[in-house]
Amino acid sequence: MKLPFIPSVTSPTETPDAAFWFIFRGSDLLVVENGETAELPASSEDFTLLRQHYLGKLEEETADIHCYAAEVDRETQPPAGMQFVGLRQLFTRLSNNYLWLAGRAVQIIDWDRTHQFCSRCATPNEILDYERAKKCPNCGLTTYPRISPAIIVRVDRMIDGVPHLLLARNGRWQRDFYSVLAGFVEPGETLEDCVHREVFEEVGLHLKKVRYFGSQPWPFPNSLMVGFTAEYASGDIVLEEEEIADAKWFTVDNLPNLPTKMSIARRLVDAFVEEVERERDA
Ligand SMILES: [Zn+2]
Repeated sequence: MKLPFIPSVTSPTETPDAAFWFIFRGSDLLVVENGETAELPASSEDFTLLRQHYLGKLEEETADIHCYAAEVDRETQPPAGMQFVGLRQLFTRLSNNYLWLAGRAVQIIDWDRTHQFCSRCATPNEILDYERAKKCPNCGLTTYPRISPAIIVRVDRMIDGVPHLLLARNGRWQRDFYSVLAGFVEPGETLEDCVHREVFEEVGLHLKKVRYFGSQPWPFPNSLMVGFTAEYASGDIVLEEEEIADAKWFTVDNLPNLPTKMSIARRLVDAFVEEVERERDA
């Protein structure tokens, strides 16, 4: 996933020829309805904006498209042909590049909304014009958009010569599906420490061969998911019952319901399936 996107905090001085506006009402994005798909509005001129931020430009083949994030009042009604829609509902309707930009946009709007005042001395913050930050004019405290790193890990194990992977069901999830394990990084912890700790806490297993897989921003509300693969080393599954309802070893032939295609969790599982099938064919 490579975005042809150049982030910046400095908007063009003149109104650009091509623009996308990511306009939020709460956490819902304004989209132009176009049958099965959704598109982004090219201007914000019909709206009274509570706040706006320049995001940067998307380098499309034909032209640069300048991107803006904005927020409107809770009472704002969408114009004819448009709707405010939650980002998760747009997973299958908005093109991938625009969806991740929407995730960037919603986090910047949320950060602006929740950091109006200095958290040390309560003076109104000022937005810096050279980086994505705010600074308190009284005490100098600088505040950046918060990103919360979390690890997500697929644990593999050979059982009787057959490759298995560990999938768990979280008791708080509404939909019935299984996924790989995940958890937030604690202060002072390396990502690898976090992988070992989370897996031991949630299912009581020890790991070996922890390897980086890839990462994905997850704007619900501000995570960065850092994906790993690992191999089972020792231990028996012991569930952390407050969080994990079930955890089992699965083969590619008996996979349960899985997370959405958009998630790195699903990419981890899909990569396992591909590896096993490649081995079979070899
Ligand atoms: Zn201050």
